[in-house]
Amino acid sequence: MTHPVLTALGLADNESGTYLGNSEWSKTADAGVLEPVNPTDGSVLARVQASSQADYDLIVERAQAAFKVWRTTPAPRRGEAIRLCAEALRAHKDQLGSLVALEMGKSKPEGDGEVQEMIDIGEFSVGLSRQLYGLTMHSERPGHRMYEQWHPLGLVGIISAFNFPVAVWAWNSFVAAVCGNISIWKPSPKTPLSAIASMKICNAALKKGGFPDLFYMFNDAGTELAQSFVDDRRIPLISFTGSTKVGRNVGERVAQRMGRSLLELGGNNAIIVDETADLKLAIPAIVFGAVGTAGQRCTTTRRLFVQDKIYDDVLAKLKTAYAQVEKKIGDPTDPANLMGPLNSQDAVKGFLAAVEKAKASGGTVESGGKALDDRKGNFVLPTLITGLKNEAEVVQTETFAPILYVMKFSKLDEALEMQNAVPQGLSSSIFTTNLKAAEAFLSAAGSDCGIANVNIGTSGAEIGGAFGGEKETGGGRESGSDAWRAYMRRQTNTINYSDALPLAQGIKFDL
Ligand code: NAD
Repeated sequence: MTHPVLTALGLADNESGTYLGNSEWSKTADAGVLEPVNPTDGSVLARVQASSQADYDLIVERAQAAFKVWRTTPAPRRGEAIRLCAEALRAHKDQLGSLVALEMGKSKPEGDGEVQEMIDIGEFSVGLSRQLYGLTMHSERPGHRMYEQWHPLGLVGIISAFNFPVAVWAWNSFVAAVCGNISIWKPSPKTPLSAIASMKICNAALKKGGFPDLFYMFNDAGTELAQSFVDDRRIPLISFTGSTKVGRNVGERVAQRMGRSLLELGGNNAIIVDETADLKLAIPAIVFGAVGTAGQRCTTTRRLFVQDKIYDDVLAKLKTAYAQVEKKIGDPTDPANLMGPLNSQDAVKGFLAAVEKAKASGGTVESGGKALDDRKGNFVLPTLITGLKNEAEVVQTETFAPILYVMKFSKLDEALEMQNAVPQGLSSSIFTTNLKAAEAFLSAAGSDCGIANVNIGTSGAEIGGAFGGEKETGGGRESGSDAWRAYMRRQTNTINYSDALPLAQGIKFDL
C-alpha cells in the first residue's frame, strides 16, 4: 500500500526520477532503481527509477534550448515565475513538510520549516529579480561611459545532500532562475521522493502560469552520471552540497575544466559560553543546535567551550535537558517528538564508532552514547562527551550524528583559538553579555567561520544572509545577500560617445 504521505502528494509506489521537460517524466526502467528507506522503521517507501545516459543527454539538450529563451526574458518577469512556485509550495507546505520528515527523518516542525525556507527564498528571489544591480564607473577618458552588467551563466547543476532534501534545491534553483538560468538537479539518492514532489509542485505552477520549464532533474543509481555531470563542459556552474570528501573531488574536477563550483561542505561548529552568559538563552540554543535534526545539520553544534567557573553548572543543566529530549525520541512525523532517527544504518554505525573512538581517546560519556536497538529504525540517544582535547581526531572530524564534545576554557583567547583550530569553518557562536567578548569574537582576530553569531546558536540560518563557510567547508555562499552573483557572469562595458579615440593610460598610437 502506498504510504498516505506519498498519496497526499500524488506520488505512487513506482516513480520516475527523471524530469525531461515538456511535462514528460522518463519511462526508463533499466538504469537501476533507488529505494528510499523510511528511517523510522527500515521499510522501503517506494521505488524510484534512475536515469539513463540518454535521459541525461536529452535533459541537457532541452535545458540549453530553454536557456536561449529564458536569458532574454525580463528579470522581473522571471521573478513572477518564482512567485508562482513559492505560492504553490505554500499551498502544499503541510504535505511536503510531512514527506521531508518521513523520508529524511527530521521532525515534522523541522520538515515544515524546511518548506518554509523554500517559500522564503522564493519570495526573496521575486524581490531580487528587480535588484540585479551592477555598478557605474567614471571613465578616465572624455566622452566615455563605463558600467558593468550581470548576465546569466546558462545551465546550473545542483547536487544536493540528504539532510536538506528540498531547501538547498530552492536556494539554488530559484535564485538561479531569476538570474536567467535553467537548472538541472541531481538530488540525494536517500531522499528522491521529496525531490520529485518538489519538482511536481513547482513545474505544475510554472505550467499553469504559462512559463517554460526552468527546472530539470535526474537521479543516479550509482555515481557515474553524477560524475559526468560534474565533468560536463555544458554546465558552467556546479553547486554542490555534501560531504567534504565528495566535495573536494567535485571541486577539483570542475576546476580542471575551468568551470565554476559553489561548494557547501561539512562543518564542525562550536559554541563558546563565557561566565557572563545568560544560560536561559544558552542552554536551549546548545541543546537545539546539538540534537535538532538528530545532529544531521551542516550547522549542528558539535563542540562546546565553557568557561571554567560555570562549567559544572552548564554540564549539569545540559544533562537534565538531554534527559528530557530522551523522552521525546520517536516517529518524526509526530509533532510531539523532538528528535527523530538518523537517516541510515550506516549513520548509526558511524555514531557508535565515534563514541568508541572518543572513549578510547580518554573521553567520558556523560549522557547517551547508545543506539536504541530495542526498536525498529535508526534511533540513537543524544550524546554528551567530556574529557577530550580539541586536537583529538574524533573532535576534529564531523560525525553526522548528535554528539556534543564539551570542553573547558579559562581565557577567551584560548576558546577562540580552539574554536578556529579545526579544518572546517562553517558556523560559530558565542554566548556572553560582555560587549568586549562579543566584539572580539566578531573581529578579524575572532571566529574564522562564514557564520558567526552572538547569543543565538550555530544552527538555523535565515535565508536573508549569504550562507556558507570557509576552509574545508568549501568557501561557497548561497541564498541571500549578494550570493546571486555566483549564478551570473559580470561584463564590463565601455561606451565611447565622443568623436575621438583616446586610449587608456594616455597611450599614443598615431597611425
Ligand atoms: P554526500 O557527500 O555523501 O552526498 C552529497 C551528494 O553528492 C549526493 O547527491 C550524492 O549522491 C552525490 N555524490 C556522491 N558521490 C559523488 C560523486 N563522485 N560525484 C558527484 N556527486 C556525488 O553527503 P550526504 O551524506 O548526502 O550529506 C551530508 C554532508 O553534507 C555533511 O557533511 C554535511 O555537513 C554536508 N552538508 C553541508 C551543507 C552546507 O551548506 N555546508 C548543507 C547540508 C549538508
